[in-house]
Amino acid sequence: MDGRLVPGAGGAFETINPATEEVLGTAADASADDMDRAIAAARRAFDETGWATDHAFRARCLRQLREGLRRRADELRELTIQEVGAPRFLTFGAQLDAPVDDLAWFADLVEDYAWERDLGRAEPMGMPSHRRVVREAVGVVGAVTPWNFPHQINLAKLGPALAAGNTVVLKPAPDTPWCAAVVGEVIAEETDIPPGVVNVVTSSDHALGAQLTRDPRVDLVSFTGSTATGRNVMASAAGTLKRVFLELGGKSAFVVLDDADLRAACSYAAFAGITHAGQGCAITTRILVPRERHDEAVEITAGALAKLGAGDPQDDRTICGPVISARQRERIEGYLKLAVEDGGAFACGGGRPEGRDRGFWIEPTLITGLTNDSRAAREEIFGPVLVILPHDGDDDAVRIANDSPYGLSGAVHGGDVERARGVARRLRTGTVSVNGGVWYGADVPFGGYKQSGIGREMGVAGFEEYLETKSIAEGV
Ligand code: NAD
Repeated sequence: MDGRLVPGAGGAFETINPATEEVLGTAADASADDMDRAIAAARRAFDETGWATDHAFRARCLRQLREGLRRRADELRELTIQEVGAPRFLTFGAQLDAPVDDLAWFADLVEDYAWERDLGRAEPMGMPSHRRVVREAVGVVGAVTPWNFPHQINLAKLGPALAAGNTVVLKPAPDTPWCAAVVGEVIAEETDIPPGVVNVVTSSDHALGAQLTRDPRVDLVSFTGSTATGRNVMASAAGTLKRVFLELGGKSAFVVLDDADLRAACSYAAFAGITHAGQGCAITTRILVPRERHDEAVEITAGALAKLGAGDPQDDRTICGPVISARQRERIEGYLKLAVEDGGAFACGGGRPEGRDRGFWIEPTLITGLTNDSRAAREEIFGPVLVILPHDGDDDAVRIANDSPYGLSGAVHGGDVERARGVARRLRTGTVSVNGGVWYGADVPFGGYKQSGIGREMGVAGFEEYLETKSIAEGV
């Protein structure tokens, strides 16, 4: 905070390995006063330094941050596997290496971006004027993040926010304080980022997130988390009419069309659905299959899930590790119970895996026999739990996929690419994969329709979320 590594006035709190329940150590537990000082430091750095206007300096600092994090990649990899329960293979992608590398894209963007646009001369109301449109930083950004992909989400906020010239107070989730604290450490020790520009405030108390959303010195809140919390963030930010940017939950559909290779599509749906124990907002958790091939699809998907199983995240063959906490496991088990009460059955899984009495585990699970209006099919479970539903052709598949309060992501698999593409265009979601295409990337905007959020993260659209627009007219 403010360029220094400081203890929390609230003491320290434990961070736990979800695969073993082992206490890894402690993190600084910030108090409300600490948060207040962090906001003051960010405000001061924005108002009193040249950070917001020195584009070349910021590009250099972002590259230093990338290099600093890359130098510590091995240590960060082990930390991420242990603190998040992330399977090792994912740390070579979206759980670590990809978001660190992506900082380069934002550094390049600072240099390439058209910060100023000349609209030329005009004579509005007979008064000769030369007009320019200038883009500039919004000010102090309050970033509040969840635990599931901590590096991806922390850096997808820090990268563009800093590139745009803002200063930031980052409040990570209480479950993953170390992943964020290391970024603060690298910034303080290995970059020229001035004191106060980035302030990482770890805390066991959610109230510190709420404090950021209320504080009048914060200009924009960038939030990723559940839709329920997103609603609170928006309401609380309304008090000072600050800008809000929300990345929220999802219940995305994986649509298998009747001309798809069913075995390939369902095997991929199983893999995609339980990666990182299903703890991804954009994971496709509703599998929609042609009614006439439903039973075959169930057999293939259940077989693939059972084969993948849940395993030690340290093992580089593991796809599905533990869930983050006992609380999260209970929440998932609540949905499993609900599914049965609503007439559902488990084609595989449905409980805790045998032989794992330490750690927070749920077996990869496939629920059959539900309709799209049951709670397990509508609500975000955030565990390795998939629901399979029959559809009666393309129109019906689109109807079911769109019959959701969410609109974050989706997938379509079909033999005729033209037709699959047509279905993809009809899905009311922020991202769609067709036949296994990967939309994830620094240059690709990501975000949700409907109750999955407001705004876009990453890409030029994501960068521009952190900019104001100023029009200047000179009398000539
Ligand atoms: P959460 O909403 O419980 O918490 C997210 C963050 O908000 C944490 O840092 C928490 O401390 C903070 N917080 C809690 N109450 C707050 C309040 N009233 N005001 C301000 N901040 C507050 O979410 P979680 O359980 O940590 O993460 C899981 C959720 O995140 C899932 O719903 C998932 O879909 C969503 N998510 C969305 C995306 C996306 O990009 N759309 C990405 C990852 C996760």
